[in-house]
Amino acid sequence: MRYVILGAGVAGFAAIESIRQADTAGEISIVSDDPNGFYSRPGLAYYLSGEIDGKALYPRSREDYRALNFAFINARARKILRDGKKLELEGKPALEYDRLLIATGARAIPLNIPGADLSDVVKLDHLADANTILALAKRGRTAIVTGGGITALELTEGLLARGMAVHYLLRGERYWSNVLDARESQIVEARLQADGVVLHYHAEVTEVVGRHKRVIGARLKDGTIIKCDLFAYAVGIAPRMELAQDCGLACERGILADERLQTNDEHIFAAGDVAQVYDPLTGHSTLDSLWNLAREQGRVAGLNMAGRRTAYLKSAPFNVTRLAGLTTTIIGTVGRGRDEDVLGIARGDSETWRELPEAIVAQGGFDVNHVRLLLGENHIIGAVLMGDQKLSLPLQKMVTHKTDISSIRDMLLQPNAPIADVLADFWVGQT
Ligand SMILES: Cc1cc2nc3c(=O)[nH]c(=O)nc-3n(C[C@H](O)[C@H](O)[C@H](O)COP(=O)(O)OP(=O)(O)OC[C@H]3O[C@@H](n4cnc5c(N)ncnc54)[C@H](O)[C@@H]3O)c2cc1C
Repeated sequence: MRYVILGAGVAGFAAIESIRQADTAGEISIVSDDPNGFYSRPGLAYYLSGEIDGKALYPRSREDYRALNFAFINARARKILRDGKKLELEGKPALEYDRLLIATGARAIPLNIPGADLSDVVKLDHLADANTILALAKRGRTAIVTGGGITALELTEGLLARGMAVHYLLRGERYWSNVLDARESQIVEARLQADGVVLHYHAEVTEVVGRHKRVIGARLKDGTIIKCDLFAYAVGIAPRMELAQDCGLACERGILADERLQTNDEHIFAAGDVAQVYDPLTGHSTLDSLWNLAREQGRVAGLNMAGRRTAYLKSAPFNVTRLAGLTTTIIGTVGRGRDEDVLGIARGDSETWRELPEAIVAQGGFDVNHVRLLLGENHIIGAVLMGDQKLSLPLQKMVTHKTDISSIRDMLLQPNAPIADVLADFWVGQT
């Protein structure tokens, strides 16, 4: 059996690992246009801020790779020829496949305003982008960041850590308004301001102003010009699904995949940020941009490619991340509506977070230890936890397994309820 994996991200590598569990003899090739191979994309934020070095981005050793016995091909894939079951590459011979996995991830949506092509306009997508930013970030100079979600904040904090003065521009009236509630946005914004970030609300950039191809500022819709030396953006991501569309695979917002991660071509599978995966429990096909879900999808795709019929049982999408230095867990469905700063989905985000059925909100705690729960009739359907993370894992389990919390529901909904204590006691009783 010849397996071709297109995309050397976490989904592609998880697929190789599970194929090898089921088939020790098959030929596996993995193709990527990123010369840096497989590294932690979420780790780029910590690399940018200087908390980890480049080596720490690599989750696997050479020995791990040797044991998996595959060929790595650094090339860009140009075309999928479904009739001949071939993948055409730029500048390298085509690869024939019996099973193909498309795990091409997503790319940052480009900034579409005059001046976006200037050399000091940056995004944070790949390791190469992080290295470009590090070369351009100069202590004592000024940066502007625009956009929403986790990546815009990571850019802000990374540039701050590199000694730059940072202006953060928000198109709306608060940070990440379709996932966080007003209080949570305010907690993040206050922490940014305390770190010296200048926040601008209702600030839409119409042009990045340059001189001699270098950035000198940004013009806002109201005509104001803010001077800067570097301009960074994170306005959302788009699945890299052109090859799938060109060869006639069914696509909507991503490549449509069933619960076995198979596309509408029985020889082709899709996983990770590029895939819009059917969830039999909800009947919805959703896009996620989450490391752990991409890995699980890749694992299940690999098993199915190697002939082991396995269903992908989607767990409640969750992310444990850091927002303005505050560890934050986001689980299940927590928000609604549209955020003006992000077009569609962002990195570290899930469409499921915004599929809000009828729910009542319970919240408590202080600014640094905050918890918000979305309560259905007798289970928790979503949670945001900021600061103290003791409840992160229990809440992930309670949301995923739809644990019956009817015995504590009324207590959670009392005004000023000690939510964290009630939940902790309940969890201890469960285990
Ligand atoms: C800065 C940043 C912060 C993030 N923060 C978080 C977070 O806090 N929490 C979280 O859960 N997730 C986070 N994510 C998202 C997470 O990294 C992704 O969900 C995950 O990497 C998706 O894995 P993937 O394998 O689907 O795709 P990717 O990791 O995008 O890998 C796809 C690979 O395919 C290659 N490729 C694409 N097209 C072609 C082609 N035509 N030819 C050859 N190669 C091709 C690409 O170069 C790439 O190597 C973050 C990502 C970034 C970049």
